[in-house]
Amino acid sequence: MEVLHTIADFRRARAAFGELGFVPTMGYLHQGHLALVERARAECPAVAVSIFVNPTQFGPHEDFARYPRDTERDLALLAAAGVDLVFVPPVEEMYPPGFGTYVIQPAADEVLEGAARPGHFRGVATVVCKLFNIVQPTKSYFGQKDAQQTVVIRQMVRDLNIPVEIVVAPTVREPDGLALSSRNVYLTPAQRAAAPVLYRALRAAAERYAAGERSGEALRALMREVLAAEPLAKPEYVSVAHPLTLRELDQIGLEGALLSMAVRFDGVRLIDNWVLEGMR
Ligand code: AMP
Repeated sequence: MEVLHTIADFRRARAAFGELGFVPTMGYLHQGHLALVERARAECPAVAVSIFVNPTQFGPHEDFARYPRDTERDLALLAAAGVDLVFVPPVEEMYPPGFGTYVIQPAADEVLEGAARPGHFRGVATVVCKLFNIVQPTKSYFGQKDAQQTVVIRQMVRDLNIPVEIVVAPTVREPDGLALSSRNVYLTPAQRAAAPVLYRALRAAAERYAAGERSGEALRALMREVLAAEPLAKPEYVSVAHPLTLRELDQIGLEGALLSMAVRFDGVRLIDNWVLEGMR
């Protein structure tokens, strides 16, 4: 496994490979990241991973400075997983003085994570576009955990004609349902014990949908009710949205819906989602 820190070095190393699977990450790796790596290994002759805590996707009052980092441990996990190339650039390599071009999707900023985190998807789309240009992957792997991110990246690839295939893999969860996240380490033991309430709320709504409920408001109310039973959980938003436009739905139609939520446990913000499959 080669570990490269500059764009020039990465390009030189990448030139030795043909088709390449790519998993972009912010590090502090867990089984969710490793499931993406395993999928890439199974589907591609070679695999590259990036580890970059991207400052442009964090708001001024968010957790960029304290975001957990452990590159040494990450590299050991990636070596054991059979990764070929790892790109670990310093911030100045990705954003040198004078940097001034961004990828924006105004519609993404109006809903869900985009509305809650101004500038977040501008940062995500910009860094992923840059990483695609540097890594030149054949396929790139993303987690369903960040549902709106997958919609933004697919739209960017389509709109800007980027020659990469996007693969989305299911969310990996703890046995009690909590979605794996690098941010779970922020949780106190009491908050950790309360955190599976997101999964319970999503499951309750999915079961009600399976039983025939099609009212968006009824499912939003049900999820809010489940969350309200957990005093440590403070919901930021609870959504039943169209799976592609991510606009809130009054009535769920043939295309199904995306259930999603952001919930605060004091300073720790967790997100989770569940896809309600449609009829086509
Ligand atoms: P991050 O390091 O949080 O930027 O995540 C890197 C990639 O891993 C993104 O595509 C995430 O959606 C994905 N990911 C994060 N957590 C999970 C999870 N629990 N299950 C599956 N994929 C995940």
